[in-house]
Amino acid sequence: MYEKLLSPLDLGFTTLRNRVLMGSMHTNLEEIPGGLERAATFYAERARGQVGLIVTGGIAPNVAGSVGPHAAKMTTQEEADQHKIITDAVHKEGGKICLQILHAGRYAYHPNLVGPSPIKAPINFFTPKELSSEEVWQTVKDYANTAALAQSAGYDGVEIMGSEGYLINQFIVKRTNHREDEWGGSYENRIKFPIEIVKQTREKVGPNFIIIYRLSMLDLVEGGSSWEEVVQLAKEIEAAGATIINTGIGWHEARVPTIGTVVPKGGFAWVTKRMMGEVNIPLVATNRINMPDVGEKVLQDGCADMVSMARPFLADADLVLKAIEKRPEEINTCIACNQACLDHTFEMKICSCIVNPRACHETELNFLPATTLKKVAVVGAGPAGMAAATIAAERGHTVDLFEAEKEIGGQFNMAKVIPGKEEYQHTIRYYDAMIKKHGVQLHLNHRVTAEELIAAGYDEVILATGVTPRKVDFPGADHAKVLNYADVLYRGKEVGKSVAIIGAGGIGFDMAEFLAHDTEHESPSMSTSAYMEEWGVDMAYSDPGALTAAKPAPSPREIYLLKRSGGKHGKDLGKTTGWIHRASLKMKGVKHLANVTYEKVDDEGLHISIGGELQVLPVEHVVICAGQEPLRDLHDALDAQGQKVHLIGGADVAAQLDAKRAIKQASYLAAEL
Ligand code: FAD
Ligand code: SF4
Repeated sequence: MYEKLLSPLDLGFTTLRNRVLMGSMHTNLEEIPGGLERAATFYAERARGQVGLIVTGGIAPNVAGSVGPHAAKMTTQEEADQHKIITDAVHKEGGKICLQILHAGRYAYHPNLVGPSPIKAPINFFTPKELSSEEVWQTVKDYANTAALAQSAGYDGVEIMGSEGYLINQFIVKRTNHREDEWGGSYENRIKFPIEIVKQTREKVGPNFIIIYRLSMLDLVEGGSSWEEVVQLAKEIEAAGATIINTGIGWHEARVPTIGTVVPKGGFAWVTKRMMGEVNIPLVATNRINMPDVGEKVLQDGCADMVSMARPFLADADLVLKAIEKRPEEINTCIACNQACLDHTFEMKICSCIVNPRACHETELNFLPATTLKKVAVVGAGPAGMAAATIAAERGHTVDLFEAEKEIGGQFNMAKVIPGKEEYQHTIRYYDAMIKKHGVQLHLNHRVTAEELIAAGYDEVILATGVTPRKVDFPGADHAKVLNYADVLYRGKEVGKSVAIIGAGGIGFDMAEFLAHDTEHESPSMSTSAYMEEWGVDMAYSDPGALTAAKPAPSPREIYLLKRSGGKHGKDLGKTTGWIHRASLKMKGVKHLANVTYEKVDDEGLHISIGGELQVLPVEHVVICAGQEPLRDLHDALDAQGQKVHLIGGADVAAQLDAKRAIKQASYLAAEL
């Protein structure tokens, strides 16, 4: 099991204990008071979990290169010394850690940003100032200086961030480099910047220090590098002294999803595979490798020498340890939602994880053995109930978990049938394993009553009863063609060839995605080639940037997505994933209507008015996704009888796509019982 993944990797001067690299993630911990201590605990837990090599979040080599106004940099010995707490903590656990050096270039969110040319990024408000030739040389020195400082702080190496559209990438391609000096013009001139950085870094740090270079192997932007250019750069980077080449996929401004949950697992490993044999140093494959079996397959298929997993280590610090101990069913799997990690990072909040609220909060949220053992009832086995029950049981309490349905999972049973959200079943699988491991008494098909709970004499009663779909009250709301989202997603009600969806929140978007796919005939997880075709990635890499025309499979039905409010559809969806949902529905031809008043439903269809103008949508079905109400019958009944309860999850606050809050609230409560 996981033979290749868990085999050591000899780098000549040092050996990695396995082939799993924990990829760089900007957690925002480095930017807050006391954050380095928290980061040390965060990384040390992952090192204890046996990961082969850790890479930190990006640290700037100079002020201009910071991603934001107060983003972390390493330019002085004093700043470097503060990192010793991290390297010591990781080394104490037998781990190895590299500091990522990231210069944001034109992606920096501050007014003093710089770039090879004064060309504004489509995802930034600020235009960069063009670096002078001398300033470019100085920037090269700054990279090498930061690497030397990282070495003095005890890091085992550095990763030079050369991909995702950051400064180095900006120098490499003509799209962003219009210079006419020694750093622009020919390809050789444009790649001189990364080559000099690696060369000068190697000179400064000596031979026994890891230098990972993150190479943009697939830019996914117009005017990106050609494959031949990428190979040429890889060879030069090897010659300049890099130890490992990591894969970068897509610039941040690219319009192809590269890490969202829609991306097939290991879906970009083919890119790294193309590079195998072109260089003699180890290559790392990245993107949507979220479980050991996925990583093992990437290695067995000869796609790479190592695999990088980043977000999976937010979801589970012990991912590698659980692979070593052959208990993969206990891995809390990253479901690629971005809700608590990347979305937080971009909102300047501390990064965490929807399925593991301990991530980056290891110093404040711990599940220690309970001092007083209690008899606990948890009602509802959705995300909130599953988390509360398993954590309480892990701490030693005796826990009964009641679920009215035939299975655990709550609304995640609906989320998991949405094309591109199949991963959500992993969360249910994980909690199923935890229920068994920690001896939670599970009572399925059991709609528990207030009388039962009171009669059993529980010390603590936790209500995680979730929500009920909000009803609409226009004429014809009870017509046979009107369904709600649970009818379709949970109870399998058929939907005809034309449909209007009422409500364009997260669930409305998911419903549109569900109905825009032929879920009966399409395989639930898209194959890599189908995905690349759908989003317009040319796997033959015929043109620079590897883009081609997108060829989405047509929607099997005509779909209207309606909302009462004005403005853009999906503006409240996640910062890093909303655009994917919007683009996906656009490709499928879903019609968006805003400012809609619902008049009635009859045999003709859905009658609406927009700006006072009446029209009929002649649809076979109308699916209501108009929000949710907390389900509190049990709460009210218990309250009436004076029973103290804890209300968590959707039953506390019904807010559509809100598993993050549900699991977090459950975890903090169960940690304190
Ligand atoms: P629920 O999941 O609603 O679970 C409540 C459980 O309690 C149910 O299983 C119910 O049967 C049971 N129950 C109720 N009363 C009783 C009783 N008396 N006795 C026994 N059992 C009872 N959230 C996100 O954050 N990200 C997403 O991408 C996302 N996608 C979604 C997609 C869809 C299609 C849907 C429908 C939801 C999605 N959500 C998403 C929302 C997310 O699933 C909810 O926020 C989350 O499930 C709330 O968890 P919960 O445990 O509070 O409630
Ligand atoms: Fe993965 Fe979602 Fe957790 Fe981020 S928040 S690590 S994407 S499960």
